[in-house]
Amino acid sequence: MKILSVNAGSSSLKFQLYEMPEEEVLISGVFERIGIGNSFYTIKLNGEKIKKEVELNNHKDAFEILVKELIDNNVINSCDEIKAVGHRTVQGGEKYDHTVVIDDSVINDMVKYSSLAPLHNPASITGINASKEVFPNALQTAVFDTAFHASMKEVDYLYPVPYEWYTKYGIRKYGMHGTSHRYVSMRMNEILDKSDTKIITCHIGNGASISAVKDGKCIDTSMGLTPNAGVMMGSRCGDIDCSIIPYIIEQTGMSAKEVDTVLNKQSGLLGISGVSSDSRDIEDGIKNGNERCKLAQEMYVKRIVEYIAKYYVLLGGCDAIVFTAGVGENSISTRKQILDKLTVLGVKIDEKANDIRGVEQKITADDSSIPVYIIPTNEELMIARDTYSLMLQG
Ligand code: AMP
Repeated sequence: MKILSVNAGSSSLKFQLYEMPEEEVLISGVFERIGIGNSFYTIKLNGEKIKKEVELNNHKDAFEILVKELIDNNVINSCDEIKAVGHRTVQGGEKYDHTVVIDDSVINDMVKYSSLAPLHNPASITGINASKEVFPNALQTAVFDTAFHASMKEVDYLYPVPYEWYTKYGIRKYGMHGTSHRYVSMRMNEILDKSDTKIITCHIGNGASISAVKDGKCIDTSMGLTPNAGVMMGSRCGDIDCSIIPYIIEQTGMSAKEVDTVLNKQSGLLGISGVSSDSRDIEDGIKNGNERCKLAQEMYVKRIVEYIAKYYVLLGGCDAIVFTAGVGENSISTRKQILDKLTVLGVKIDEKANDIRGVEQKITADDSSIPVYIIPTNEELMIARDTYSLMLQG
């Protein structure tokens, strides 16, 4: 059965087509600059990467070109062969703790939750509507990024602000990257060959979040009401003293929205280094003796270590730590700096094993108190698996 996993951004559309239940990737790719000119797409098929420039006015155009490519490359004979489309969606509020078949009420709820994810939810809805037009007979499912974190308890998800802010305005921790944390923690349990585990998952990419996962369920996560909480990120500040915001408004005359933009887009590694939000540039800067890059990296590592330590205590120990996403999978030096700070817990890095990028591997010595793994994330596969199981349920 052919199932399409898609991730729609406001001007992009990433996709992977799976043959299920074999979990074989038939084709993958991304449409970029949809609706903003100079659009193009890249597809990977049979180990070959093809890039084409094409006019893409909207997401429907992208889906239609995808169908044409699939037919031209003999992946399908007609679009009805795609039995289901699974959509990565971000904010599902408190209601959605699992993947669901999309109907009008799901769309209405996504619209309702858009105020909590103003960039992401509207983009997903655009993708879903376009997909429904191009694949009218396919089952459409929504895989929410917040769903995996729905198992958190009140004591962990509430903020110490007036309780009415929660009941009236929904102010609480929702978390993000849930599909990634779910995938890597599941994979970690498979590797450990047990399910009653205490796992700390570190999804460190451009955005970053850390989760504490007990017996396969998330008990706490570092992102909050929005993705700008928890650890320091590429261009986001993460946790800061909230009084900085009114203070800087008073000092500069900036609006709340302008300050929010600075905290999301000009802070983190970029804000401190003044160089870049990309770890690779920070690493280069350090090699070239840039002191601000060095400081940014130290602050970045410190905050990740603080969350690992916090979750070690919360979980009452730890069976494994997982690194995933762009930095977690690829930055040899960031992983080493983090693990060096965990020697107090008996963690011992295996430097040779750590000298690797983007593959599943244990990176600690056999006598390390906690094994640490790189597990490349695979949100698309989780989307395909969830969608396939909803197809089986009819
Ligand atoms: P993601 O958001 O998961 O796609 O991660 C993107 C980020 O991963 C980039 O902005 C880089 O900071 C980081 N990254 C990717 N490749 C490398 C690498 N080889 N070394 C260090 N950082 C990397």
